Amino acid sequence: MSARYDTIVVGGGHNGLVAAAYLARAGKKTLVLERRPLLGGAAVTEEVFPGFKFSVFSYVVSLLRPEIIRDLDLPAHGLQILPLESTITPMENGDYLGSWADPDESRRELCRHSPRDADAMVLFGRLMHHMAMAVKPILGMVPPDPASLAPAELAGLLKLGGHFRSLGAERFHALHKLMTMSSADYLDEWFEFDTLKATKSASGIIGTFLGPRSPGSAYVLLHHYMGEIDGAFRAWGFQKGGTGAISNSIASAARAFGAEIRTGAAVERVTTRGDRVTGVALESGEEIAADRVVSGLDPRLTFTRLLDPKSLPADLVDGVRRYKFRGSSGKVNLALSGLPDFSCLPGKGPHLRGAVSISPSIDYLERAYDDAKYGEFSEHPYMDIVLPSMIDPGMAPPGKHVMSIFVQYAPYALNGGWNDARREAFGDAVVKTLARYAPNIESLILHRQVLTPADIERITGLSEGNIFQGELALQQLFFLRPVPEWAKYRTPIHGYWQCGAGTHPGGGIMGASGRLAALEMLKDGR
Ligand SMILES: Cc1cc2nc3c(=O)[nH]c(=O)nc-3n(C[C@H](O)[C@H](O)[C@H](O)COP(=O)(O)OP(=O)(O)OC[C@H]3O[C@@H](n4cnc5c(N)ncnc54)[C@H](O)[C@@H]3O)c2cc1C
Repeated sequence: MSARYDTIVVGGGHNGLVAAAYLARAGKKTLVLERRPLLGGAAVTEEVFPGFKFSVFSYVVSLLRPEIIRDLDLPAHGLQILPLESTITPMENGDYLGSWADPDESRRELCRHSPRDADAMVLFGRLMHHMAMAVKPILGMVPPDPASLAPAELAGLLKLGGHFRSLGAERFHALHKLMTMSSADYLDEWFEFDTLKATKSASGIIGTFLGPRSPGSAYVLLHHYMGEIDGAFRAWGFQKGGTGAISNSIASAARAFGAEIRTGAAVERVTTRGDRVTGVALESGEEIAADRVVSGLDPRLTFTRLLDPKSLPADLVDGVRRYKFRGSSGKVNLALSGLPDFSCLPGKGPHLRGAVSISPSIDYLERAYDDAKYGEFSEHPYMDIVLPSMIDPGMAPPGKHVMSIFVQYAPYALNGGWNDARREAFGDAVVKTLARYAPNIESLILHRQVLTPADIERITGLSEGNIFQGELALQQLFFLRPVPEWAKYRTPIHGYWQCGAGTHPGGGIMGASGRLAALEMLKDGR
């Protein structure tokens, strides 16, 4: 047995690191144990091919909570977010829809396609801002349980009720619609231009086994609307050096507060005596004692891998078994010898410093989903494409580029299962689809890395490759995330806690779960 710790954090994903930083800041002797040789989980940068660095999984940032940036002074530890300046959507008729940093330019562009939508966009933007502001406080609170009569829960509910009442009837009704409708239906109420609706609805399908016409997708759209960079709402950006540099900045803050961090330290199980945690046992055989253990892993691993499920209440284990992962996303990372030439906007223009969304119509996205519904990857997938080396040249050798392609749909449960041939066929479908819009792409590819949900699970541990540690579906959000009655970061084992994206408020590089869990643990210790 080695030294005893106040707290051991299992998993050095960004949420585990945030939890460790807050605990260490409060004076707790804290140790983080990460299985992989590098920190960050789904937020890592790796030099996959010599000279070419990739944000291998997550690639843009927006949701990271401003209070965490402040509390941990992350800019002093290397956080530096460069704005993503635009989004273009190539259309099937050779035209495109652009959205630019300058709102007037975006308005003029939308007017070209639909003056009616350009007017509607002003009101829509305002309403979505209010919706995001309405939900924002919930991101920073421990969810009260409406089924409980405990005074603290009732007080929390009362506070929340008051908050929603203050929205006024119109905004409250809009929020209800967003929580329940499909993104296509919701956007139909506002706009007529199909490419606009498709591009907006795309953020409603990310990380979820839903199509734009599936009820519930409008909430995911809102989830992606809540981002904020330096006070600019809805802004998305690149971390200099890739998303791994975000994780490293949090790790550096945690170390500065006194936390110890070990990589290459896979935890085999959490050790207990009766219903109390005593520490962890590593795969190496080493045992480390601690008063508390907090898992940054997803709910399946937290409850049924690190613990013997027999030691837990049956309804909790059933809840975890029912919790939906259903990974639906893949990633293709390309090392390029030069820049892609999009037929809709030829040459090297400012659009290459922003995102390119392959989402020409709602039908296109829904058909991509149809493939996945029946167990196949999309022949013509939705893709969110960025060229980080255009903004951060250090990511690729001079004159060369890295391209990150987030892809849907790639179902975890592929007919016949994933293997090398199916992975390459998926990569081919992505490149062929992209070549319809950027015909020179195939001639530029020096190397390619194709990641299926099975690869995401194997490398990061994310069960079924779900990018959010479980779908952001209404039935597993808020006081239901991950399961009813165990949504407050606690578990039935005394001293064993959970802090990953599988807890409220969910996935994305947000850090909110790690922070809220740590604050609850500190409150509990007082
Ligand atoms: C392909 C992809 C693209 C994405 N794109 C974006 C994006 O652009 N923007 C965005 O905001 N979000 C994005 N996301 C989502 C976001 O990255 C995740 O939701 C978030 O990083 C989850 O963080 P976490 O700390 O909760 O968990 P994780 O990142 O899953 O961290 C868990 C950690 O635990 C470690 N671990 C597992 N088992 C053990 C063990 N037994 N012992 C010790 N350690 C263990 C893992 O190695 C991992 O480091 C993306 C995710 C993926 C996969």
